[in-house]
Amino acid sequence: MSQEMNIQSAQKKLDTLRLKQKELASQLSATEFIWNGSVGKRFLTCGTPSCHCHTDPEAKHGPYYYWTTKKAGKTVSRSLSEQQAEILKQWIENRRELEHTLDEMKKLSQEAYETILFILDHSG
Ligand SMILES: [Zn+2]
Repeated sequence: MSQEMNIQSAQKKLDTLRLKQKELASQLSATEFIWNGSVGKRFLTCGTPSCHCHTDPEAKHGPYYYWTTKKAGKTVSRSLSEQQAEILKQWIENRRELEHTLDEMKKLSQEAYETILFILDHSG
């Protein structure tokens, strides 16, 4: 008797998981352009020894924008204009959201798998 209840609640749980999965899938379908790596900015000192940038951190030159990613274990870096940085920052943010959604879907699927196994084990 209590086992039947368990199967019923497992079925309900599975329905809920399926609904959540569909919601996440619709988020995926709304995803815009995506980009690897990350964008940063830095302030640099120059080659002129008398320049204030060497003594005053506020006088450093920049910001200089750059993009980095890992390729075959090595960090690859490219300098960017501010405008390029703005575009890629958004696309990188899109990618992070996408990866977050994918992680959620993987977790849900794992739960669904365990729930299905439970139902199989306790029915028939
Ligand atoms: Zn300088």
